[in-house]
Amino acid sequence: MTLPIISRSSRRASWNIRKISNIAMPQRKIICKYGPTNSYIVSSPIGDVEIISCPKGLHSVKQVGDTDEYFSPDTGVNVDVKFQLYKDNGYTYKPAIQCLEWLQFYFKSSVDQLKIPLLCQSIFTEGSFTSTAQKVLTEKVLYGQTISYKNLAALCGNEKACRAVGMAMRNNPISFIVPCHRVITHSGHLGNYSGGHKNKIKQWLLTHENAIP
Ligand SMILES: [Zn+2]
Repeated sequence: MTLPIISRSSRRASWNIRKISNIAMPQRKIICKYGPTNSYIVSSPIGDVEIISCPKGLHSVKQVGDTDEYFSPDTGVNVDVKFQLYKDNGYTYKPAIQCLEWLQFYFKSSVDQLKIPLLCQSIFTEGSFTSTAQKVLTEKVLYGQTISYKNLAALCGNEKACRAVGMAMRNNPISFIVPCHRVITHSGHLGNYSGGHKNKIKQWLLTHENAIP
């Protein structure tokens, strides 16, 4: 499959390597049982986002570089590939393209119409509470909605498991798509995001979705 968006951007790779050399870059290839991963850095209104994908699904989607201290959103920035770790030689992993399209749509409007990109099953531990919480959240808590840690715990079958829900959210590898930013405290406060390091981003995402409690 040849896809224009990413392959076009890959020609700018050397320029982008210099431009973003001051941020944390993945220098490793994860060998998934479904094949090697590739990593992409894409621009977005809330700063650069790193996508890691193998042939079968996403392994990670994370906003990189900024913490609350430096958070400076810019709605004029489009979602576009700035850099990719390995050249694709005309073939780009389908989940990475799905993720790029999802992010482009997400930051322009609502994502109600878009299918969730493929997620690599190797990132979930089948039967674990963490995986259950992440899957239930993705399926049940839609764009523009919020849910409390307590209610999400109840949806997962154990309303006393608030702390375990909090842990599952902190360990969420797929930001935005597995929408841990939509989980707030029972009293309506935002709660922490990325261990409290990116709470302004959580606030921005919920405002973007018109979901501020
Ligand atoms: Zn994989």
